[in-house]
Amino acid sequence: MRKENAWCPLSYKCGGCDYADLPYQVELKFKRDYLKKLFFYIDVPEVIPCRSIEHYRDKVQAVISTRNGKIISGLYIKGTHHVIDLKDCRLEFEGASSILASVRSLMKSFSLAPYDEDRRTGDLRHVLLRHAHNRNEVMATLVFGSDRFRRKKEFAYALVQKHPEIKTVSWQLNDEKTSMVLSDKAIRILYGDGYIEDEICTLRFRITPSSFFQINRSQTEVLYETAMRMASLRGNERVLDAYSGTGTIAMIASGKAGRVVAVEENGAAVQIAKENARLNGIGNVDFVSADASIFCKEAAKKGVKFDAAFLDPPRSGCDERFLSSLIKMGPEKIVYISCNPETQARDIRYLKNFGSYYVRRIQGVDMFPRTSHVENIALLTKAPELKEEYRTFSGKGKYLDDRERKYGRKR
Ligand code: SAH
Repeated sequence: MRKENAWCPLSYKCGGCDYADLPYQVELKFKRDYLKKLFFYIDVPEVIPCRSIEHYRDKVQAVISTRNGKIISGLYIKGTHHVIDLKDCRLEFEGASSILASVRSLMKSFSLAPYDEDRRTGDLRHVLLRHAHNRNEVMATLVFGSDRFRRKKEFAYALVQKHPEIKTVSWQLNDEKTSMVLSDKAIRILYGDGYIEDEICTLRFRITPSSFFQINRSQTEVLYETAMRMASLRGNERVLDAYSGTGTIAMIASGKAGRVVAVEENGAAVQIAKENARLNGIGNVDFVSADASIFCKEAAKKGVKFDAAFLDPPRSGCDERFLSSLIKMGPEKIVYISCNPETQARDIRYLKNFGSYYVRRIQGVDMFPRTSHVENIALLTKAPELKEEYRTFSGKGKYLDDRERKYGRKR
């Protein structure tokens, strides 16, 4: 069904958009089929589509390089260190390409050279842009490969003058041999406050250059609302938000819970999470800066219990230490949000085998149209509720899980 070059002339080279030339309905079907294979034991409904399949990326990470003596900005071709000259990308937020064009032209007038990782020459390495929808504000971070360029502030002012939507500019030194955009060195502000603010589910959130924030703002609201509906909190529960980033899920859940504990290993993100809570007048969330596995192991040892847990780990999923401690803390419901359904399915197997948790609902949400990535939410509950579930599903002739297949259907 592919039509070469129909959607983007560079999609074949770049590799960022696996599904560039497919009709969106077919893309959604592929994503659902993928989830069906992983979660074959339960009904998988249609994946919730994204309102817009273009310009949804609110985070742009451009690599600065040279091609035939000309400054270019773009992306690494998938799986390589080769930079593709990308003047306009259909996924990036509207306005990103014009800011990057200004960066390239200002580099010429400031005699600022692109950094060459192999020869360790030049200066500017990456430009990171983050966009807040509500106020149409942009934050720019200039990543330098060396600390030679002396006119950073002037450069930042010149960029802001051309693009008043840029509310803050920061810079960071990253002179390591790595494909990571940011290093762990300090981020210094050149202009503005060092953060921008966006609104999600009626709450205000600060976004800084290094903190995790979902890249598709409007669909993030759909993701969180769906997760909250699946959790159906009653208002008095003790809730765990593991891998909490800047505290988005914890804060949204706090309105419907007694107390929330949010655990995140990135100390800077926790700092912002605390500020976010203050900003919104939220007082029933405890933010913990720790490795989720270590924190949960200690908490389980002390006999801490939770009624419900939200998990939103990175692509690698959760480790056994975390999962076994979670089982000990015995939440009645687990809402597992994942950007990598394969590790999610693996972790769910563990929770089933060692904790008698069962999947009650699966809901895919398309956060990344045109790419093969799909976000998935799973609702798990403890075994007793399963009985009812058995009845619900037995009529449809579907296997609920491996045990049902082995021991036959219960009624
Ligand atoms: N729930 C948040 C963030 C999800 S991204 C949101 O929706 O915005 C995953 C987060 O897990 C990142 O912020 C990352 O820093 C954090 N993380 C990764 N490994 C971790 C670990 N072992 N313990 C705690 N947090 C971890």
